Amino acid sequence: MTKTPNISFEFFPPQTLDASFRLWDTVQTLAPLNPSFVSVTYGAGGTTRKLTHEAVGAIANNYGLNVAAHLTCVDATRAETMEIAESYAAAGVTEIVALRGDAPKGAQRFTPHADGFASSVELVEALAKTGKFKIRVGAYPEPHPDSADTLADVRFLKRKIDAGATSAMTQFFFEAETFLRFRDACVREGITAPILPGILPIQSWDGTKKFAARCGTTVPAWLDDAFMAAKRDGREELLATALCTELCDTLIGEGVEDLHFYTLNKPHLTREVCHALGVTPNVALQNVA
Ligand code: FAD
Repeated sequence: MTKTPNISFEFFPPQTLDASFRLWDTVQTLAPLNPSFVSVTYGAGGTTRKLTHEAVGAIANNYGLNVAAHLTCVDATRAETMEIAESYAAAGVTEIVALRGDAPKGAQRFTPHADGFASSVELVEALAKTGKFKIRVGAYPEPHPDSADTLADVRFLKRKIDAGATSAMTQFFFEAETFLRFRDACVREGITAPILPGILPIQSWDGTKKFAARCGTTVPAWLDDAFMAAKRDGREELLATALCTELCDTLIGEGVEDLHFYTLNKPHLTREVCHALGVTPNVALQNVA
């Protein structure tokens, strides 16, 4: 019998009233599973700065969850970025997911603001200097679009850890081997900080394929074939639950203790997978908020 994993969830801030209801439904459904932490993304180019702040505060205050706020370097001076971090500290937030961020829409590559942080390493260094945050960072089991190869990503991750990050969450992937090879490469480079696999329960196969293409995540042919067949028979959700559970189970069997779920603010598949892994609701947390 495999060990029950520690779990965490990623949410994104809502931009409409309808999306607000979806977020609250997601938090309410998943909070009783007692996550170690939840994180809230920061829109590309800093577009959700205020919304991220509000969502982080509301989740922490209403559900008592440990919330990590994402923060990127895009389109902001160092002073502006650190002002946002300080506003999180003032609101009681103690965890930050420190990211470089993607190029703004229309731009080919990330270009730092003239007075901004040039890389995630610089952002991590500055956050670490404040002594106010536990710092998490992103990690890439398959080459990031800006990277020469996986070794370059592993070495860059090492720089982020050396700068003060204490754990990393990976981009999503479809085969356990992809993560396990990356974990081995990290160990070879001397990384001892925990690396949490990023798990994407597949809500829609077409959407997931587009997302994968943008992130550089390999889509195995067998997976595409399986979803094409499941789509014909109306069994996509069943397949998504079974495959995600199997992926997590294999990782746990290989010693993984923490799983980070990309919920996309849709709670049901994530909840089903967690239940299948033996993560069941803590009744005392079910009626919070
Ligand atoms: P970095 O590690 O900084 O860079 C990625 C790779 O590019 C490195 O591994 C390295 O190979 C290469 N590289 C980058 N800079 C240099 C350099 N100066 N010198 C040499 N090589 C370099 N985006 C958002 O906009 N908002 C979010 O909330 C958000 N959340 C995310 C959460 C997670 C867990 C992950 C994995 C990604 C998230 N992203 C988010 C996407 C992320 O911003 C992009 O993938 C971005 O392109 C890289 O940011 P990073 O800090 O993860 O990567």
